[in-house]
Amino acid sequence: MHGLMMQRPLLISQILEFAAGNFPDQEIVSRATEGPIHRYTYPEMAQRTRKLANALKKLGATEEDRIGTIAWNTYRHLEVYYATSGMGAICHTMNPRLPAEQFIYIVNHAKDKFIFVDLTFLPLMEKLYEHFPDVEGFIVMTDEEHMPQTDLPRVYCYETLIKDESDQFDWPEFDENTASSLCYTSGTTGNPKGVLYSHRSNVLHALFALAVPGLPIDERSVMLPVVPMFHVNAWGTPYFGLIAGAKMVFPGPGLDGESLANLIEDEKVSDAWGVPTVWLGLLGHMRKAGKKFSTLKRTLIGGSALPKSMIQEFRDAHGVEAIQGWGMTEMSPLGTIATPRPSQMEGDWNEELRLRATQGRLVYGVEMKIVDAEGKALPHDGESQGELLVRGNAVISGYYENPEATKKAMDDDGWFRTGDVSVISPDGFMEIVDRVKDVIKSGGEWISSIDLENEAIAHPGLAEAAVIGVRHEKWQERPLLVAVKAEDSDVTREDVLKFLEERVAKWWLPDDVVFVDELPHGATGKLQKAKLRDDFKDYTLP
Ligand code: ADP
Repeated sequence: MHGLMMQRPLLISQILEFAAGNFPDQEIVSRATEGPIHRYTYPEMAQRTRKLANALKKLGATEEDRIGTIAWNTYRHLEVYYATSGMGAICHTMNPRLPAEQFIYIVNHAKDKFIFVDLTFLPLMEKLYEHFPDVEGFIVMTDEEHMPQTDLPRVYCYETLIKDESDQFDWPEFDENTASSLCYTSGTTGNPKGVLYSHRSNVLHALFALAVPGLPIDERSVMLPVVPMFHVNAWGTPYFGLIAGAKMVFPGPGLDGESLANLIEDEKVSDAWGVPTVWLGLLGHMRKAGKKFSTLKRTLIGGSALPKSMIQEFRDAHGVEAIQGWGMTEMSPLGTIATPRPSQMEGDWNEELRLRATQGRLVYGVEMKIVDAEGKALPHDGESQGELLVRGNAVISGYYENPEATKKAMDDDGWFRTGDVSVISPDGFMEIVDRVKDVIKSGGEWISSIDLENEAIAHPGLAEAAVIGVRHEKWQERPLLVAVKAEDSDVTREDVLKFLEERVAKWWLPDDVVFVDELPHGATGKLQKAKLRDDFKDYTLP
């Protein structure tokens, strides 16, 4: 028997209209790409978004068209998010740090019809546009006063485009499973893969995000999404922030420690979201300036492991709770969150810190399991290591027009393979051991490259460390430590090995240590192990 309740489609345009109607005086503040601080209210944002939808329609944008963006986190980018998805088109956010050939690949694979470009990225677009013959127009996200001379053809100025449009727009109603946005994973090997979100998945993900344990967001919150809007919809903040009615603060291009610190203090930010490297810069600045945050309560940190030392510094120096989250582009991205349960926060801080340094427990809406090489489920006993698989309403069921990658990523029962190796404890806390591709298979045992790196980086003479598996006749693979020395350090191979001897099992010890000037990083700042493995593929261990 079916329930007798209405079936209304879950649509992104409803978030916009709900927020504008329900929080009429709530503010959206941005550091504009042109420099100054820009502020307006939710209803003003909705008005401009409707104008933009009218302008896009006039330009010829229709449902299902892919509309690219290459932009910072600002109010205009937010308007593009809502106008494109709202009208039934697909907002395709692009990472400006992608290598040129990958950038060209994704624009053509997505078949973008229009591309919104922030001033900062205009030179990049001027360099590449010849590779995009099918793009019908480039919209520069600025006003007439700041509109530069450009060689870009078919170019429009954002403010000119929307100036005379009506601020009324009838958002169409359609199936909630309609695609709303598209984001390519940076891909350490091969071409980037497209993750195509739907209205339903984005709205549900926003609701799940509002139910994350220990992360209360409501209209008293002041949210700073530092995580870029060009990466996984800024972890959903533009959607759930507006549902909650939070004051939104967008940092624009100002991502250095000092700019962020000033913005946090000036706008009384309570909740900031971003990857660990951003907070390194911020904490460094606060330390140097001898300052303490006065309004910041929490930071959500994910994308790569959150070091214990950072949790501790946020707590001791600022009274700020640094919370680790784990997720993936393919998961919209929230998967797990490392907030201990209230009963786990009553005792010893060191035990609490240990839990906070894991990747955490499930967010509602996600299920997870770990499996062995044959796909057999392993127990959640805190010891068994296996590949982590997930499923849920905001998890992909396949990549955009890429059957080959889809086949590899999905198991026979429809679970998504994360490519992470992890351990799950009986009380549900998940810990990432390594990426499946990075774990070192030595004589039938696994060595975690991440654990080795974490131990190595504690050596004061090292600035950065990466561990990769190198072919070995007897053991199949053995670890090689590739490191960058800290400034002015004269640390030697022997020093590092001696240091590690006291910290890791003997059979984990790297067979060699090599110093390099720098390590390869991808577009989201992550270490490119595949590239490193390639660089060292003919390396002979001593
Ligand atoms: P994002 O960078 O937005 O999290 P990506 O899809 O680019 O998403 O990368 C996902 C991968 O990043 C995960 O599979 C995992 O390996 C790694 N990752 C994400 N969060 C964490 C975390 N808290 N700790 C360790 N690794 C993480």
